[in-house]
Amino acid sequence: MLERITRFFTRESAHSDPQEVQIYEDGEHPLSPDMINRDAYKVVDVLQRAGFEAYVVGGCVRDLLIGLKPKDFDVATSAKPGEIKELFRRARIIGRRFQIVHVQFSREIIEVTTFRSNTSQTAGKNHRQQTDSGMLTRDNVFGTVEEDASRRDLTVNALYYDPGDNSIHDFTNGLDDIDDKIIRIIGDPETRFREDPVRLLRVARFAAKLGFDIESHTANPMKQRAADLQQVSPPRLFDETLKLFMSGQALDTFNLLLEYKLFDFIVPQLAPMLNDRQGIPIKLVSQALINTDKRIQASQRVTPAFVYAALLWPVVQKLAKNYEKQGSSPPYALSKAAGEVILKQIPVTAIPKRFTIPMREIWDLQLHLRRRGGNRAKRLLEHPRFRAAYDFVLLREESGEDLEGLGEWWSAYQQANAESREEMADQVAATERRPRKNRRRRGGKPAANPES
Ligand code: ATP
Ligand code: MG
Repeated sequence: MLERITRFFTRESAHSDPQEVQIYEDGEHPLSPDMINRDAYKVVDVLQRAGFEAYVVGGCVRDLLIGLKPKDFDVATSAKPGEIKELFRRARIIGRRFQIVHVQFSREIIEVTTFRSNTSQTAGKNHRQQTDSGMLTRDNVFGTVEEDASRRDLTVNALYYDPGDNSIHDFTNGLDDIDDKIIRIIGDPETRFREDPVRLLRVARFAAKLGFDIESHTANPMKQRAADLQQVSPPRLFDETLKLFMSGQALDTFNLLLEYKLFDFIVPQLAPMLNDRQGIPIKLVSQALINTDKRIQASQRVTPAFVYAALLWPVVQKLAKNYEKQGSSPPYALSKAAGEVILKQIPVTAIPKRFTIPMREIWDLQLHLRRRGGNRAKRLLEHPRFRAAYDFVLLREESGEDLEGLGEWWSAYQQANAESREEMADQVAATERRPRKNRRRRGGKPAANPES
C-alpha cells in the first residue's frame, strides 16, 4: 500500500505552507468511497445535501491509507450540534468537554463532530477554559475546516476525506508524513502537550501502532512535559492506559513510555522497580504485554484485570514480603499489600472495581495454587479465576521467579485423567503434611478490601 501512496504523492506542492490546503483529487490517492463504512457515507451525504461541509476524518482515513482496518469512522462537519441532530431521526448530543453528536444506525453509532477552533483569542469564556498550566478543560469553539485540522493532535490524524468526490483534503502535510512514516504533532509541540498531556501518550501509542518514528521536534519536549500527566483526570488516564495496553502493540508502546519517561506517571509505584533492565519486574511486565499482544493477534479475550495484575504484582509482592518479615502470615501480608497498592494506584488511573476485584483474586490465588493437596486441587480448578491465576503462575515463571515447578504441575494436572489427578493431589498432600520448621501460624485474618 505504501508504494502505491508514494506513487500518488509525488506532487511539487508537497512541502508547501502547512496552512495551505492540498487537495488530492480522485485518482491521486488510493482511497475510494467503497472503502468507507456505509453509514458514515450516508451521514456525510445527508450533511452535504443539506448544504454543509462534511468529511470522513481522523484515524479511519489514516488507517485506510496505511492498509489497516479502521476501528471506527468519524465524521466532521460545518453543521452545529443542533443542526446535525435535526437532520437525523436517531441522533443525540453528548459530552461537555467536547460536544459531539451520536447518530445511531442499526449496526453502529457514527460520531459526528462540528469543526472546532483552537484559537483562544476569539473564544468566549464559556466555550473554552484553560488551567494556569495551559491545559484545556472545555473546548467548544466552532471554526472552519482549516481550524479544525490545526486543533487535531497529529498530522497523520488530520486528513479529511470527501467520499462525495473522492478527494483528500490535507492541511498539515499529513500525507507526506504517512508516506515517510513519521509521527508529528501539529503546531508548537510544547504548547500542544501543555494543552492536553494525553497527547504525549497518543504520540507513543500511534508511533507503536503504526511502526512510525517520532519526529525530533515532537520528541524533544516529551520527557520534560511527562509530569503534566499528573493533571489528567484518573478516569481519563485509566481509559488511555487501556488503549495503550489493549490495542495489540502493548510491548512497543510500553518501551516508548519508558523511553520518554511517561511510564513514571502511569504506574508510579512500579516505575523505580523497572530501572534494573535485567530484573524480574521488567521481564514480568514485558512478558505480560507480549502475551496480551499475542492474544489480540489470535482474537482471544484480553482483560485489563490481568494486565493491571501484572503491572502491580512486583509492587504487591515486595510490600507483602515486608509485612511477612514484620510477622504477618503470608495471606494476611498479601491481602494488606494488595489493598494498599490498589488504593495508591486509583488516584492515578481510576481502575474500576470490576477490575480490581478479579486482580485481587488472581493475586490471592497465587498462594492458593501452591496449597493443592487432597481435595484442594479439584476445587481450585473450578474457581472462576483459575485460568487467569494459572496463566499468571506461568507468567511469573517465565519472567524468572522460582515457583518450584508449580506451573508445570498444574499443566500436567489439567491434562491428567481423574485417576491420575487424584494420585497427583495425594502426592502433594503427603509432602504438605510433612512437618516443617516454623509452621506456626502468625498474623490475623485478612483485611477487608479497602477499596470496596
Ligand atoms: P483510533 O484508531 O485509536 O480510534 P483515532 O485517530 O481515530 O485512532 P480517536 O481517539 O478516535 O483516535 O480520535 C479521533 C480523532 O480526533 C483523532 O484522529 C484526532 O484527529 C482527534 N483527536 C483525538 N484526541 C485528540 C487530542 N487529545 N487532541 C487533539 N486531537 C485529538
Ligand atoms: Mg477513532
